[in-house]
Amino acid sequence: MADQSFLNWPFFEDKHRALHAELEAWASANLPVDHSDVDQACKDLVAALGKAGFLQYSGAKQGETLDVRCLCLIRETLARHDGLADFAFAMQGLGTGALSLFGTPDQQAWLDKTRAGEALSAFALSEPKSGSDVANIELSAEDKGNHYVLNGEKTWISNGGIANVYTVFARTGEAPGAKGLSAFVVPTDSEGLEIAERLDVIAPHPLARLKFNNVHVPKTGMIGEAGAGFKIAMSVLDVFRSTVGAAALGFARRALDETLTRAKSRELFGAPLAELQMVQGHIADMALDVDAAALLIYRAAWTKDMGAARVTREAAMAKLYATDKAQEVIDKAVQIHGGDGVRKGSIVESLYREIRALRIYEGASDVQKIVIARQALA
Ligand SMILES: Cc1cc2nc3c(=O)[nH]c(=O)nc-3n(C[C@H](O)[C@H](O)[C@H](O)COP(=O)(O)OP(=O)(O)OC[C@H]3O[C@@H](n4cnc5c(N)ncnc54)[C@H](O)[C@@H]3O)c2cc1C
Repeated sequence: MADQSFLNWPFFEDKHRALHAELEAWASANLPVDHSDVDQACKDLVAALGKAGFLQYSGAKQGETLDVRCLCLIRETLARHDGLADFAFAMQGLGTGALSLFGTPDQQAWLDKTRAGEALSAFALSEPKSGSDVANIELSAEDKGNHYVLNGEKTWISNGGIANVYTVFARTGEAPGAKGLSAFVVPTDSEGLEIAERLDVIAPHPLARLKFNNVHVPKTGMIGEAGAGFKIAMSVLDVFRSTVGAAALGFARRALDETLTRAKSRELFGAPLAELQMVQGHIADMALDVDAAALLIYRAAWTKDMGAARVTREAAMAKLYATDKAQEVIDKAVQIHGGDGVRKGSIVESLYREIRALRIYEGASDVQKIVIARQALA
């Protein structure tokens, strides 16, 4: 059982501890799932998480607020049990984040389905020529009076191919660069929306490149105001960036747990591995990195929940530190497991693959450093 002492930190209320206990029991009984068909596994996970009530936390209608500490606790716990379960939960939140924060009541009707686990959502920001460089988005949305017409491409879209609804960021051209973007809600059955390519990555989950060929979106499909797309995307990432750190924390905690078990049970030179001081040094580093990451994540989540308009600096620090350090923690876990650490199918081997992309998406580590430095210099 992973260390739970962090739940007594002052960042949490009784409702958070109760949620954690309920989810831990559910995850222990239901995870991990079979990953051999990732599309089906994700659909099943969303249905199961919806039925169990945990997806209620993934969105917020007008009059409700997203509880970032709940989001982080859920992602951390799911990631510790099964990376695909964390992914399935996370996408229900990220994919509808713009609707939760800026949607009209009609647009927020999607939340009834995504929170019940009856529809899957996706967040379509990246393009072949603009990943980190979001302001350079080219996918165009032309104003045709009572509707917009979308043309262009999106890539690296998680849940691409299985989502029922996409939040799409497009150029409406009110101004050059970041100030000329808008956000739209686009159902997957919109005519002209094509899954151009499915993408395989080292830790498989549903991903696709999408083509928009004259996709008509009614004016009521615009989220927020024309030209506010960049601000909307950044506001969504402001909430969800800390949760990426939380997922990394879940992976790191699992790696530490696996290492403690291994170090105590593996006999080497006539004694348990855990008695070698160099191994103890690695374990100390791992435990320290896990706690430091948790402090940064729950500081960011608590600050947002206390009503801060933006937590750009705190969320960037949480994501950068937690994802980079989780990579190091997991690498040490692999090392301490010896040959078994790189054996396909071992837990630390899958964690080694799972963690890597978290240092790239929702703002690469280098980009988080720039964000933190700008805030410090401001
Ligand atoms: C598994 C996975 C899932 C994803 N899911 C989604 C999704 O659901 N929706 C979505 O919209 N996108 C998604 N993405 C895309 C992701 O957000 C982009 O890959 C990311 O923003 C980086 O963009 P890029 O791949 O084009 O790399 P580039 O922008 O070409 O950057 C390459 C590298 O350059 C460095 N770099 C970039 N900018 C700077 C800078 N200013 N200073 C210093 N170094 C810099 C970083 O190391 C970066 O990794 C996903 C990606 C992956 C791998």
